[in-house]
Amino acid sequence: MQIRFLHREICPLCASPKRSILSEISYRNSRLSSFLDTFYQGRVDLETLGSESYRIVACVCGFIFQDPVLDDNGMLVLYRDWIDHDASLKKKQTAKTKLFRQYAGQLHSLARLFDKRPDQTRVLEYGMGWGYWSRMAQAHGFDVVGYELSPQRVEYARQMGIRVIDSLPSESPGFDCIFANQVFEHLPEPLQTLQELCRHLRPGGFIYIRVPDGRGVAGHLRQKGWSPALDAIHPLEHINCFTRNTLIMLGDNAGLKPFNPPLRINLDSFWSGLKRELADRLLTTHLFFKEC
Ligand SMILES: [Zn+2]
Repeated sequence: MQIRFLHREICPLCASPKRSILSEISYRNSRLSSFLDTFYQGRVDLETLGSESYRIVACVCGFIFQDPVLDDNGMLVLYRDWIDHDASLKKKQTAKTKLFRQYAGQLHSLARLFDKRPDQTRVLEYGMGWGYWSRMAQAHGFDVVGYELSPQRVEYARQMGIRVIDSLPSESPGFDCIFANQVFEHLPEPLQTLQELCRHLRPGGFIYIRVPDGRGVAGHLRQKGWSPALDAIHPLEHINCFTRNTLIMLGDNAGLKPFNPPLRINLDSFWSGLKRELADRLLTTHLFFKEC
């Protein structure tokens, strides 16, 4: 399949053509091409990247993004053929409990935002990957569906019992919550996508967006140039590099404003937790056993 690049001549957030170049390296550069060769384990045909450059620009609005980026076919090839699906799945399968505690925390916050039962709360995981968060959401009782482009991940998630939709429904009662974890850094048109998602929100619904933290990236690029350690601007994949300010701007341009969910740590839960711990050790009739 022919790989082509698209040029993002205007800022995907504010549509301004005014930008400065933070870094520009030819895809033929040996440091960049050997990084890509190692990262994708030789699956990238480096010739196909041809004479284009890995160029990172900063718009006058402060948004940092890659220009050029792969076109739709190129993105399909990247996410279907180049990335290491086995390693990505294994990362999830061997994840530490911390990751699932984080998911559970997000789901508890979600439950507290609505004055209704989880099974009455419609949730869309946009870009669900292998579906681990959706499975947790399902286990917490939410009415959840997933959307994902990668056929390998869709098949896996379906086998795990996740309801997957192939496209956003044109006629639908909408969602109470749209959850997008590590998705918006990959999208060629993040604002258009967010505006589209907003059309699928129920009144009073909300969108959760989590992206890599691009703090310090611009300074690093200006002073030291590109380094493979700058994951927030990973070549080909992380084509949008957000800071808190530019993420707020993305929302603002789509007619959204950020809000703080209820605190997950509070004194009430501290004291009730302490009481529970004491009762568990001294009074209750549920025990863990092991051999003498
Ligand atoms: Zn801009």
